[in-house]
Amino acid sequence: MQNPIQEIEKYIRDIKDFPKPGIIFKDITPLLADPKAMKLTTNELLKRVPKEVDKVIGIEARGFFFATLLAEHLDAGFIPVRKPGKLPYKTHEASYELEYGSDTLAMHIDAIKPGEKVLIHDDVLATGGTAAAVAELVEKAGGEVVMLNFLIELEFLKGRDKLAGYPVSSLLKY
Ligand code: AMP
Repeated sequence: MQNPIQEIEKYIRDIKDFPKPGIIFKDITPLLADPKAMKLTTNELLKRVPKEVDKVIGIEARGFFFATLLAEHLDAGFIPVRKPGKLPYKTHEASYELEYGSDTLAMHIDAIKPGEKVLIHDDVLATGGTAAAVAELVEKAGGEVVMLNFLIELEFLKGRDKLAGYPVSSLLKY
């Protein structure tokens, strides 16, 4: 078989000017729609993450897909981090700067117990603001961030600079 990374890349579709002009959106729906590509991707992600994990966080919404699969394989719990107003119980919130304005993410206050090892997963690492806010939420709850893990990294946006001090891993780099 071909190099697995090159094989997975075939299932990522570039959508120009979505959601606004100048953005090339990395669409993972062709990958999600193909069971072989999903299995291959899950296995490649698993090769790169720590094995001792208590909780896997998926970031709304495209982080949920692989985070749940990783949690199942790692025998860990899955935790959704969502936009404000979506989670029904009490939440911790963290805000972060966007190009224009700011955004906020929320996590249930009892999602992580102090001392738990937490793996954070999202589909795309762009500027790193989202992932840094989620790391802040984990630490607010007393958890330990063992890795920030991504399917895709847009290296030219230098998101890793915002995540200095944490182990970061991504499968596909553009
Ligand atoms: P950032 O906070 O800049 O690292 O942005 C990361 C979040 O925005 C992730 O949740 C991604 O799903 C989404 N995102 C940013 N840029 C893209 C892109 N080019 N294609 C797909 N999703 C993106």
